[in-house]
Amino acid sequence: MNTYTDDIGVATEWSMKALGLMARHQVVPLPTNYEVWFRYASGQDTTLNEEIDQHLKEGKKIDEDISTDLHQRFVSHASLTDTTLDAGDKLNSEVDKILKLVQQTVGDSSALGSSVRTASEGLSTKSTPADIRRVVEAIMSASVQMESRSKELEERLNETKGELNALQTNLTKARNEARTDGLTGVANRKAFDETLLQEITRASSERKDMCLIIGDIDHFKSFNDTWGHRTGDQVLRLVASCLKGGVREGDTVARYGGEEFAVIMPGITTTGAETIANAMREAVQARELVKRSTGETLGRVTMSLGVATLRAGDSPSALIERADACLYTAKRSGRNRVVSEEQHAAPKAKAS
Ligand code: GH3
Ligand code: MG
Ligand code: MG
Repeated sequence: MNTYTDDIGVATEWSMKALGLMARHQVVPLPTNYEVWFRYASGQDTTLNEEIDQHLKEGKKIDEDISTDLHQRFVSHASLTDTTLDAGDKLNSEVDKILKLVQQTVGDSSALGSSVRTASEGLSTKSTPADIRRVVEAIMSASVQMESRSKELEERLNETKGELNALQTNLTKARNEARTDGLTGVANRKAFDETLLQEITRASSERKDMCLIIGDIDHFKSFNDTWGHRTGDQVLRLVASCLKGGVREGDTVARYGGEEFAVIMPGITTTGAETIANAMREAVQARELVKRSTGETLGRVTMSLGVATLRAGDSPSALIERADACLYTAKRSGRNRVVSEEQHAAPKAKAS
């Protein structure tokens, strides 16, 4: 489905503009980047344009990380939305067809009722056998017609049941894909934002505990520089699996950013979340990394984690900010460690 334009002149103009902008801002000419800039040139998504304009205003280079993020949020997700809309359209047209058949059948059954009524009114004690036969034949023919309509309705309903099931499966798949990070299989940023808001709302109304962990791989840039981005991607998968292995039912592991992960933990105290975060940290550290293609040993990676605890009246961004502050403290104080808000906020011992 073409979501932009069918006019070749307009598309060419946008394409030239996109390529010109990519060259001017030194964006690597990859197909995914081109998709982002073509969308920008089309001006059809004001949020995307505002975000890029803001980066440019701040003098930021639109590097690989920013481009990947923009592509994931504005292009991949946009096409998933199209899939969903498409499935929705099909669903509507199926429902329309069925409604028409039901209306027709209801109409037929009342027509049958009225033909029986008219026919019986036409009968009297003076009716001859020929009159009676005519009436019976009229009723028979109306009911045969009615029966065939009912059969047709039943067949169509059965067919539609199959189509509706297939559509439902597709919609569920599209919905899950739109909420999953393609590389690691954990929740993506969009799903994280939604879940965090839901869980904060629930914990606040039920006055329950809740914690948020944000973790970031240590010195990951130098790992990528040494072993390459693709091997780095394998490490991201491994870290995601260590985090998933450490959570309880009801927790949500998400890829928060490039090499940052978050875990939403409803119904847990700071100490409980800290223990789980430490187990996750140890699980990451314990994995000896081996390059699949060559069998080469790559050493280990470590991770730093911050744990924030929900407070009354917290917004998602307030909770995230505190988890981030704890993570920052963990990084500053040596990495490969967990810092919770309690430690972070603990008053320093007074010098005497
Ligand atoms: P620190 O311990 O302070 O976190 O150091 P760092 O090197 O991990 O931090 P920095 O923020 O400087 O670098 C993060 C790196 O993560 C940069 C980028 O190459 C890498 N990265 C981000 N997203 C991805 C990704 O999707 N795949 C791979 N392989 N690397 C990524
Ligand atoms: Mg980072
Ligand atoms: Mg890092």
